[in-house]
Amino acid sequence: MKFLVDAMLGKLARFLRIFGYDTIYANDLIPYYNIDPVPDEKLLEYALDSRRTIITKDLAFYLKIKDNAIFLEGAGVYNYLKQLKLKLNLEYNFQIEHGRCSVCNSSLVKVSDKSSIKDQIKPESFRNYSDFYQCSNKECSQIFWEGPHITDIVAKIKKIIDYK
Ligand SMILES: [Zn+2]
Repeated sequence: MKFLVDAMLGKLARFLRIFGYDTIYANDLIPYYNIDPVPDEKLLEYALDSRRTIITKDLAFYLKIKDNAIFLEGAGVYNYLKQLKLKLNLEYNFQIEHGRCSVCNSSLVKVSDKSSIKDQIKPESFRNYSDFYQCSNKECSQIFWEGPHITDIVAKIKKIIDYK
């Protein structure tokens, strides 16, 4: 399942990518269309062309595109993840090798020799972790590893989704 996430939901877009869901964020399309903000009809056009479900908090937009969209209510990324789980039965099993770059949505590749990325991360991260992954998009090249921020996210998701 692939998504196009509306402008108000940037944090949700990053979280979906972390869990491996192919997710385009509306504001990432500003350079593509050269319009800021990207108008609703362009978002719909893009979503239809790339077979993506639109996730939005904008009720008026949702009501126009119901068949291709999910409407989220309230606030908070964990609340949104819970609603998506209930509506679409999404799973949030973190596996870094299946995750996507939270910055640009590209796939990740394992860094074969960690000394090659030594200058791109903090010394303590370099010391404390052995497995690193890098964004496959050469213009991005962001580095990822399974640090405490990921453990926290996974624990919060378990807690919030288990308690109804
Ligand atoms: Zn990237």
